[in-house]
Amino acid sequence: MFDLIVKGGTLPDGRVADVGIRGDRIAAIGALGTEAGRVIEATGDLVSPAFVDPHFHMDATLSYGLPRVNASGTLLEGIRLWGELKEIVTVEAMAERALAYCDWAASMGLLAVRTHVDVCDDRLLGVEAMLAVREKVKGWMDLQLVAFPQDGLYRDPTARANLLRALDMGVDVVGGIPHFERTMADGAASVRDLCEIAADRGLPIDFHCDETDDPLSRHIETYAAEVLRTGLQGRAAAGHLTSMHSMDNYYVSKLLPLIAEAGIAAIPNPLINIVLQGRHDSFPKRRGLTRVKEMQALGITVGWGQDCVLDPWYSLGTADMLDVAFMGLHVAQMTHPDEMRRCFDMVTAENAKIMGLDYGLREGAVASLVVLDAGNPVEALRLRPDRLCVIAKGQVVSEKARNDARLGLPGRPATVRRRHELPPR
Ligand SMILES: [Zn+2]
Repeated sequence: MFDLIVKGGTLPDGRVADVGIRGDRIAAIGALGTEAGRVIEATGDLVSPAFVDPHFHMDATLSYGLPRVNASGTLLEGIRLWGELKEIVTVEAMAERALAYCDWAASMGLLAVRTHVDVCDDRLLGVEAMLAVREKVKGWMDLQLVAFPQDGLYRDPTARANLLRALDMGVDVVGGIPHFERTMADGAASVRDLCEIAADRGLPIDFHCDETDDPLSRHIETYAAEVLRTGLQGRAAAGHLTSMHSMDNYYVSKLLPLIAEAGIAAIPNPLINIVLQGRHDSFPKRRGLTRVKEMQALGITVGWGQDCVLDPWYSLGTADMLDVAFMGLHVAQMTHPDEMRRCFDMVTAENAKIMGLDYGLREGAVASLVVLDAGNPVEALRLRPDRLCVIAKGQVVSEKARNDARLGLPGRPATVRRRHELPPR
């Protein structure tokens, strides 16, 4: 007897199977009958482990237009604008916006998020708000907090002390932003310093790294060397890495094996990179996306991050990780079926690996999964379809009725769903 059976769905690897759930765990996968407190019919639908976002800013989300919009559309104006917003924000307003975003996430099957929390505020209001949100959503969402010195670990006079205070308060991950320090030398020093802090405290580390079109922004090289020196292999991540788009190819041929050796995961954020990078270019305009396929070819873990939804840096966003992967596969030209399946994995299993989650469709794993109105992962990317049912730690947290369009065309079918069977391979 199960608490819940998800019946007859297609798993991402193509198997058709029932998923049986007891408590907050997957108890069995196979042909399971219907002995359960509740049976959710999923025949013909994709049943996937829940979506995961390894790079987000929940302290800023849903603040677009406060106190004004980003007129230039650049990263640097966004940072200035965020500074203005920090002057007027309250803990309550920030937590309320974050919780509203978490509701969106639940409805989209996004059940684990790593969020960078700005610590460049002596009051640490963002940290206070996000710790409260993490506690409120813990029954259904895994929320990891990164201590993020937005204005520079050294450029902001109290950032380093505030970062340490934030870690003392229970923030999970050490963050950094070396390309925003005053000089390359300060950036490199911040990388060394932060790696030592993470190693001393036994914490993961996750930088905003080289988020610039400047091909000479090479902090990732220092980061890889410091991760090796301080023994952080396997628990280090680097967000953005957009400078790598513009780097000299010979230099990259030395850099990528170093990143692989250091076990640093890369987190490009395609929606944001394509919007913020290349803003100083006339034509041709660079895309600013890092070298995704080239890193994967060397065994480097690469996940897609969302980064922003309706905040000083980005005027759109939906909490849908399929939107993120859809933009990523276009900009990185990952349109082969195998590459598209990889893109689906990047917003599920690979992002979960980056966050170190207990995850997956297997017996004993946490039962956090999503039923999609699509036949397979590639179709899910093409349609970015409704989430028919979202199960978080064994509980149904969101449901949506199938909603086919009703056609009024003579001699044509009464409804249309835009599903399409691909020819066998
Ligand atoms: Zn970010």
